[in-house]
Amino acid sequence: MNTIDKSIKENIDWGNLGFDYKPTEYRFVATYKNGAWSEGELITNSNVQVHEGSPALHYGQQCFEGMKAQTAKDGRVLLFRPDLNAERLRQSCERLSMVELPNELFNRGVKEAVRANYRFIPPYGSGAALYIRPLLLGTGQNLGLRPATEYEFRVFVSPVGPYYKGTGLSLIKLAVTDYDRAAPSGTGAVKVGGNYAGGFIATKIAKELGANEALYLDSATRTYLEEAGSANIIISLSDDRLITPLSPAILPSITRRSVMQIAKDELGMKTEERPIHLINEFSEFEEMGACGTAAVISPVQSILYKNEWMHMKNSKEGVGPVMQNLYNSLTQIQKGEREDSFGWTVEVEI
Ligand SMILES: *Cc1c(COP(=O)(O)O)cnc(C)c1O
Repeated sequence: MNTIDKSIKENIDWGNLGFDYKPTEYRFVATYKNGAWSEGELITNSNVQVHEGSPALHYGQQCFEGMKAQTAKDGRVLLFRPDLNAERLRQSCERLSMVELPNELFNRGVKEAVRANYRFIPPYGSGAALYIRPLLLGTGQNLGLRPATEYEFRVFVSPVGPYYKGTGLSLIKLAVTDYDRAAPSGTGAVKVGGNYAGGFIATKIAKELGANEALYLDSATRTYLEEAGSANIIISLSDDRLITPLSPAILPSITRRSVMQIAKDELGMKTEERPIHLINEFSEFEEMGACGTAAVISPVQSILYKNEWMHMKNSKEGVGPVMQNLYNSLTQIQKGEREDSFGWTVEVEI
């Protein structure tokens, strides 16, 4: 491995980054051909070359992950639970009949892409992070409706700021539209490209209605809460309870899983994953949060449902205490600001 000069950082206005693609120098690429994965290597070309007949382009045979690397106070570069991303990518591959990606290749690709782009990793305290996008594509010529026999695994990175406009913990609004995200036995529980293009219109409508993002209900009955466009939902009730929707169509968020554990083990809350009826239960909601790698925990102020804004009880004075506490605990662990008693962070050796 080349040595990295740790004294060099890019000249970027870290504090004013949005959640957009910013070019970096290297990406990690490995290919699968004739039944075997290549070793993989770092390259500088940000363009993917695929055959015009590839299943990734025509049939959405593609899956991805989203993670972040952050600089700790002591300068270490930390990933958050990368094994769970590798595991989820495996489940996505299985659901889409794609080749299995070895864990070792996933971990090495992520670490090498982060390390090689060290000067693009936002410094500690900047409020920004290095977003990591592992991507697996069904490539090769395969116009017939069947799975690819060739694949490309790629990991690129980009320094990013907050996902929703505003800095730190800003309150967001969600709108229920007439569109569904995923069917109960469809592909909603895996992170595959085909789940998202259909949501662009819902996001657009939600924004036109004054919300930040669309909120989805279960597609079978349109009564139970599912999730937002790229974030799961958590809700606090009185008596220190924290609930989150149970549904086979939700993308199982690693952030949510971690937050639920922090709530139970550290804050002594009673946590529950169960179906949540939006209208029948809304009056009991104290605070709501949208959580994910990109959104971290974004407190939800209000929900638009059938032309009516419904306001969360605890949102008038700003961010509520439960979401604030959970946000603090989670981000302190991710940034190495406190002891990682769960063993969730993994250092990338530079
Ligand atoms: C990626 C994603 C999330 C968040 O998952 P994390 O593992 O917490 O990043 C939530 N919902 C959807 C639809 C997603 O694609």
